Amino acid sequence: MNLYSISQDPAGGNPSAGTPSSENVPTQAQDSAQTPAQGALAADPPLEPTESLLAELKRDSDRLESASPQEILRWTVDRFAPHFTMATAFGPEGMTIIHMLAEIAPETPIFNLETGYQFKETLELRETIKVRYGIEVEYKYPETTVEEYEAANGGPVYKTDPNRCCFDRKLSVLHKAARGWHAWASAIRRDQSEDRAKAPIVGWDKKFQLVKVSPLANWTKKEVWDLILKESIPYNPLHDQGFPSVGCFPCTRAIAAGEDERAGRWSGFQKTECGLHSS
Ligand code: SF4
Repeated sequence: MNLYSISQDPAGGNPSAGTPSSENVPTQAQDSAQTPAQGALAADPPLEPTESLLAELKRDSDRLESASPQEILRWTVDRFAPHFTMATAFGPEGMTIIHMLAEIAPETPIFNLETGYQFKETLELRETIKVRYGIEVEYKYPETTVEEYEAANGGPVYKTDPNRCCFDRKLSVLHKAARGWHAWASAIRRDQSEDRAKAPIVGWDKKFQLVKVSPLANWTKKEVWDLILKESIPYNPLHDQGFPSVGCFPCTRAIAAGEDERAGRWSGFQKTECGLHSS
């Protein structure tokens, strides 16, 4: 699969000719002499996706199908901390997991991909988390500032090639951020898309080479929002202004009644995900 051409958040459609693909980007397994180890393979000790590890993860995943998100997180911390981390875009699901981790393992390192194009409301949420939970979400930045990036490319890349923009400002940053960790938490729900419907609770993330745990896989949107309201979990105020899904401001709009939840993302392009959760 093309690293840019992810058809569905955490990059699809309109892949430009000549963009790199996973076929021509060597993996650790394919070319360990030339490619630095990624994800858990770069950890100390490394965690290799051996047959026995994959079988173990499958057993654990099956067993955790009926567990609560909190129980899944507790198991994850016991099994993988201190090599366990989480990436968040501060969505409702991510906020729910942060709220749970604040009780279970507040020392868990959490980071956000700060593309330079995030809404101010999103950035303010990071500060709210600091005050409410004492958790400092770390920003991970692309190699260039927005000004440098746009100057080097003759203008905003998101207007002409959002897949490339997402690759440069999200995916490549995430690949670096994943180095050295054994596992990370994902905030996906199976009922969000056909692709996400196949997600195990615990599984090997081939793209980023570490274990991916999805504590909310079996939860519905209603369950997430019920908990947010019950526990007064902070959330992005844009959700109250017609933005069910919030990404970068140039690629996010409010949706109209009856529109699909993700219709406000990359509107006008055949792109619904930035590629973080696609296989
Ligand atoms: S969501 Fe838009 S602005 Fe943000 S990285 Fe992707 S294409 Fe660029």
